[in-house]
Amino acid sequence: MPYRMNADLPPSVRHHLRESGALALAERNVPRYTSYPTAPHFSAVIGAQTYGDWLAALPREATLSLYIHVPFCTELCFYCGCNTRAVRRREPVETYAERLIDEIGLLDGLRGRKLAHLHWGGGTPSILGPQWLETIAAALASRCDLSALKEHAIELDPRRIDRALVRTLQSIGVTRASLGVQDASPHVQQAIGRVQPFDQVERAAGWLREAGIEDLNIDLMYGLPAQTASDVARSAELAASLAPQRLALFGYAHVPWFKTHQKLIDDAALPGLAARLEQAEIAAETLTGLGYKTVGLDHFALPADELAVAAQEKRLRRNFQGYTTDEADALIPLGASAIGRLPQGFVQNAPDLGGYSRAVAAGRFATVKGLALGDDDRLRAAIIERLMCDLELDLDAVAGGAARFAAEIETLKPLAAEGLLRLDGGRIVVTERGRPYVRIAAAAFDAYLAASQKRHSLAV
Ligand code: SF4
Repeated sequence: MPYRMNADLPPSVRHHLRESGALALAERNVPRYTSYPTAPHFSAVIGAQTYGDWLAALPREATLSLYIHVPFCTELCFYCGCNTRAVRRREPVETYAERLIDEIGLLDGLRGRKLAHLHWGGGTPSILGPQWLETIAAALASRCDLSALKEHAIELDPRRIDRALVRTLQSIGVTRASLGVQDASPHVQQAIGRVQPFDQVERAAGWLREAGIEDLNIDLMYGLPAQTASDVARSAELAASLAPQRLALFGYAHVPWFKTHQKLIDDAALPGLAARLEQAEIAAETLTGLGYKTVGLDHFALPADELAVAAQEKRLRRNFQGYTTDEADALIPLGASAIGRLPQGFVQNAPDLGGYSRAVAAGRFATVKGLALGDDDRLRAAIIERLMCDLELDLDAVAGGAARFAAEIETLKPLAAEGLLRLDGGRIVVTERGRPYVRIAAAAFDAYLAASQKRHSLAV
């Protein structure tokens, strides 16, 4: 989900931002910056031809990652913000799997290249079933060299895991599984349309570990309907009791005008601003109290985990899956709506199943939009990524120095006045209190956001 509601600003910060004329920035949705420029700025100027040219220009020694999107679930959770749809029949899933094989067939130019990371996301990728998971993994292995895979990850729904699936995941070489938990309390699960007793999660984690899939991630959420601070604390404790190496804690974004199934959520049951802040805080306190290190904006990891180590050593990266240690030169997208990143820029596949399927069945890449990176994009992308990952940055060390970013530094002053960050010449340090607001600091360097704000102001 590219955007989250930025409703977490204390009134005092709103006041300062209003005075500085930047209230629009604060009250607008602020991107999560899983890429810069962000996906809404991709355009149809970049299509299948450009993607093919970019792929062909990849140096032989370039390291590669691959993301496979599977946009199906058995049923829709009310809070879901992902690109997915509920399916009851097998036929659309089977047809989609065939199209994924077609799309892999288009990657002939990558024959023999080494893949460093492979990630299955969705949706519920395991809905493909053991046979298709094996067939697709085998098709990939026939194109790329999987012998150097550092990580082979899959997103799983604990309600849809059985031993046969786990055996398949083991056989195709999966090393990391992400389990969606969100909240462990029955009344919250009822309110979000995802009833999932915690022993299902516990059993799934046990099967995965027995099969040697040791690296587990657990996703938690706050800001859900009927959720209290003690629900969040208890869910964090239960999740940590399974000793996952990593946890992610996301704030629920209620955007029913955009994700219409969210209308099933009762607005009146949603926690308010103060309650959301308390929930985020209590989850972080619980997890850090249990020995987890905070990573970036919203992740937690055991101290010895590579993600925590990378954060400590300022090697953390950010991509469409969130915080990562993936340093590959290119990310190859597979499936409807999947986004890829090449040295030259971003590409995105058709988000609709029809458009995606027609293109790959006809032997064409399904790229419908993208963005060619310019020098300014690259510079700002690096600034935003370091801020989001390290929560600090020395502008004097980037091209043009701090003087080039005088206007951006000015925008940060109200946040500094609130103690959310420190400004020392060109040096920006987000304080611990400011961690939840790091996206606002990052947004100060987003040239596209500034341009759209100007357009907005003119209209008013
Ligand atoms: S299982 Fe995940 S992707 Fe599917 S509807 Fe629920 S939250 Fe969305």
